Amino acid sequence: MNIKDVIILGAGASKSEGAPLQNELFKEFFEYYKQVLKGKVWSLSKKQEKLIVEYFKKFWGIDIENFQNRDVKFPTFEECLGALDLAYHRGESFKGYSKEKIEQIRNALIFLIAKVLDEKLRGKIIHHRKLVDRLKNEESLKQTAFLSLNYDIIIDNVLVDLYEEFHLDYGIDLINFERRSDWKRPDKNKAVLLLKIHGSLNWLYCPTCNHIELTPKEKGAIKAFYKVEKCTECKTPMEPVIIPPTFYKEMTNPFIQKVFLKADKVLRSAERVFVCGYSFPDADLHIKYLLKRAEQFREETPEIYVINNHPNKTDQQKDEEKQEICKFFKNKEKIHYTNLSFEKFAEKGVENV
Ligand SMILES: [Zn+2]
Repeated sequence: MNIKDVIILGAGASKSEGAPLQNELFKEFFEYYKQVLKGKVWSLSKKQEKLIVEYFKKFWGIDIENFQNRDVKFPTFEECLGALDLAYHRGESFKGYSKEKIEQIRNALIFLIAKVLDEKLRGKIIHHRKLVDRLKNEESLKQTAFLSLNYDIIIDNVLVDLYEEFHLDYGIDLINFERRSDWKRPDKNKAVLLLKIHGSLNWLYCPTCNHIELTPKEKGAIKAFYKVEKCTECKTPMEPVIIPPTFYKEMTNPFIQKVFLKADKVLRSAERVFVCGYSFPDADLHIKYLLKRAEQFREETPEIYVINNHPNKTDQQKDEEKQEICKFFKNKEKIHYTNLSFEKFAEKGVENV
């Protein structure tokens, strides 16, 4: 492996394509939900739909069938999923909510997020495509690894588009390659490494067989999962693999651990790290931890380019963010806090900064 550049994609990168941020997700979803109630095709099952309506009423005091958009402040996706995940991992239940039901709501929430993102983003990816095209033209795609903190499949779809066949290296083995004759293992010479440490909307995990299955490419794009599927081997209902950042420590999925170790290894050898749309929030220590490990291994900070700008950011906000990031690293002069937005970086890179 000869990775020189690592591009870290945070929520801001997906936002540039029109993906809702965490705190907007539910509001956007339920707007969509209301439209759906007015007669459009609905793709979650009735059972899942009912679970979610009841959950929002009972847990958050929100009637999602009748809310007035302006007055309601929704909990974040992370809060909703986090409350359920903590109960699940502590082996506890809520009154009236068995462990099984908690698991079902959790999965229904993830599937609906997948559905909303799919609807909103289909065919609209611009900047990620520009980024990959630029790297390809500069012939630096081979020495680049992507480390995505997003579970959407924006960058996945752009990378899959590079070739007719599937050549994307998630850093883990997928059951598709073993069991299905229509899948071939990615070609080492072609595949770009994409490490998704918070999971991915196109992965389903069978806890019985301990394997991950990937959604197939359809009509030129990979799709997200939004229905419960049963494992083709053992018929166990498979689980989505999505890790809300704050609950990372609860994370036990062996595949996520493998991805994390791979990210650790790649960052140790990287010369340049581009951090896009991510401002190192305190709750999310594990990315800092990975970078700190890389820094300590090399005995110096790698060149870190921060690409976090957007038109509404004030000078004071930039200053504060820069200070916050610099304080965490040993060699402050290696931190390049750029004035670039993700869109600009995708198009031009950092050479002329
Ligand atoms: Zn199975």
